[in-house]
Amino acid sequence: MTGASKNKPPLAWSQIMNSSTLTRRDALKRVGVSAVASLTGGPALWPGSTLAADTAEAPRTSTRGKKILVAGGGIAGLCAAYEMMKLGHDVTVLEASGRPGGHVRTTHDPLPDGLYADLGAEQCTKPGYELFREYAREFGLELLPYPRRDGESRYIDGKLYTEEMLTDRKVLGGLGFNDREAEFLSRHEWHELPRLFFNPYLDSFVDEYQPFGVGLDDLDKVSVTDLLRREHATDTAIRFVGGRETSALYQVWYTAILKHRGVPMYPKELFRIRGGNQRMTDAFAARLGARVRLGCPVTRIVRGESAVTVHYQEFGEEKKAEADYLVNAIPLPVFKRIPVEPAWPEAKAWAIENVTYNMQTRVIFVARSPFWKKDGLKPHMDIGLDHLHQVWQTAEEVPGDRCLLMGSAVPGTTEKQALAAFRSRYPGKSMEIEHVITHQWFADRWSPVCERESFRVGQLAKFFPNIMQPVGRIHFVGAYADNLNWGMEAATRSANRAARVIHRL
Ligand SMILES: Cc1cc2nc3c(=O)[nH]c(=O)nc-3n(C[C@H](O)[C@H](O)[C@H](O)COP(=O)(O)OP(=O)(O)OC[C@H]3O[C@@H](n4cnc5c(N)ncnc54)[C@H](O)[C@@H]3O)c2cc1C
Repeated sequence: MTGASKNKPPLAWSQIMNSSTLTRRDALKRVGVSAVASLTGGPALWPGSTLAADTAEAPRTSTRGKKILVAGGGIAGLCAAYEMMKLGHDVTVLEASGRPGGHVRTTHDPLPDGLYADLGAEQCTKPGYELFREYAREFGLELLPYPRRDGESRYIDGKLYTEEMLTDRKVLGGLGFNDREAEFLSRHEWHELPRLFFNPYLDSFVDEYQPFGVGLDDLDKVSVTDLLRREHATDTAIRFVGGRETSALYQVWYTAILKHRGVPMYPKELFRIRGGNQRMTDAFAARLGARVRLGCPVTRIVRGESAVTVHYQEFGEEKKAEADYLVNAIPLPVFKRIPVEPAWPEAKAWAIENVTYNMQTRVIFVARSPFWKKDGLKPHMDIGLDHLHQVWQTAEEVPGDRCLLMGSAVPGTTEKQALAAFRSRYPGKSMEIEHVITHQWFADRWSPVCERESFRVGQLAKFFPNIMQPVGRIHFVGAYADNLNWGMEAATRSANRAARVIHRL
C-alpha cells in the first residue's frame, strides 16, 4: 500500500485533462496530433484554453507501484487499467460477467458466411475519437471506412426524402422551414441545423471542460426549445432540433465542443474495426492478461482515508480486496445499486442517482444478396419507427452474396416487429431478408443501459463536473464521465484522464 498524499488541493478539470504526468511525448503520441493539439480535443488549440500552460513539460511527481482496483471491464475500465499498468502500477480489473468488453461486443456465431456484427459500439469518427484511433494503430487493428451514412434517406411524416431533396429550398419550404432555415439547409447537412441558431453562442466557451462562467449560465434554466424560439426558429425547426426537457446550455456547450474538435454534428466520415469492434477490447484484455478477473461482481465498497476496500463475489463466495485507489468503470445506473460506506457526498450522490441513460435493441437482418442494388437504392435509411429507427449495411468487406443490414430499435422489439417495420418502409420491390436477429441490451444483467442522455433543464449545473469528479480515493471513468456523451470516445478520454491523475497523486 503506498498511500496517497491527503493534502494536495483538488485539480481543476481543465488541469486534469491537460496534466502532463504521461510525458508530453506520450500524450501527443497517444492522440496522434501535432504539438498544439491536446487530450482535450482536436487538432486546433482552443483560444485561451488552459492547454497553453500544458505545452511545456510539467514536472513529474509520479510514483510507481500503486495498488489500483478497477470495477468493470468495459472499454473504459480496460483502457484505464492498461494505461495504469504501463505506468508501472499494480492493477486488477473486477468484471462481473464472463467476458471483458461490456457494450463493445461482436457476434459471429449466429451469422452465416463469415459475416459478423457489432451488437453495441461499432463506429468511430475522424476527426474525433483520436485516442480510440491511436489504440487501433498501437494494436494493429485495421480501421475500415464505414460509409453507413452516405446517401442516407429519411422518412418524414411517412414520406421518404433523399439527401438531395432535403437540400432543395422548395422541398424545405414545403416542410415549413422559413427562408433563412431553408437557405442554411440548402448549403449544410440536415443535422447541422442547430448551428444556425447556436452559432452566436459557440465561441463564448474558452475551455471545453468549463461550460460555466462565460456569460451563458442562465441558459441552463431554459430548454432548447425556449432558446430556439428566442432565436426565431420556426415550429418545423423546433420539431427537428428542439427539446422541451433538455438544458439549452448543455446543448449549446455540446455543439461548441464539436465545433472546437472540428467534428460535424452528424459525422459522415466514419470508421469501424475490420473483424468487429470487440477486437479493441480483446486487445486491451489480452495485454492485461490475468489482471482482468472475470465473474467477479463488485458488491460493496468501503471508502477509507488511506485505502479503499472492495467486496466482490467469485463463484458465489464473498471476497474482499484492498487498494490505494478504486476506478469505477461501471455505468452509474448499475453502479448505484452497489452499497458504499460512508455514503457519497451529497452532490456526487445526486449525480449518481439521477443520471439517465437510453436503451436500445440491436437489430440485424441477414439478406440473401444486396437486394437494394437491384432497386437502384442505397441501403442507408432513417426509418423513424419505434421498431426500427435506422438501417444501414455493415461487414461490407466480407466476400459472398449474403450481406447484413443493421439497425436499432426501442427495447423489447422482436424480430417480427423489426421485420414488419422494415417491410413497411423499404421503398423497393426486391427485399430478400432471410433471417433476423435482435439483441436486447436491457435484458443483460450487467450492461442493461446504452448511452448517457442529455442533461435536463437546470441540471447541467448539478451534473457537471460532479459526474466525473473523483471522491477521495475513488475515480470515475466511462462513457458517462466526460463532457460529451460519445460512447467509446468518452470512455477512452476519461480512462486516460483518471490514469494520469492517479499516477501523479
Ligand atoms: C446498440 C449500441 C450502439 C452503440 N454504438 C456506439 C458507437 O457506434 N460508437 C460509440 O462510441 N459508442 C457506441 N455505443 C455506446 C458504447 O457502447 C458505450 O458507451 C461504451 O461501450 C461504454 O463503455 P464503458 O466501459 O463506459 O461501459 P460498459 O461497456 O457498460 O462496461 C461496464 C462493465 O462493467 C461491468 N459491470 C457491471 N456491474 C458490475 C459489477 N457490479 N461489478 C463488476 N463489473 C460490473 C459490465 O459487465 C461491463 O463489462 C453504443 C451502444 C449501444 C448499446
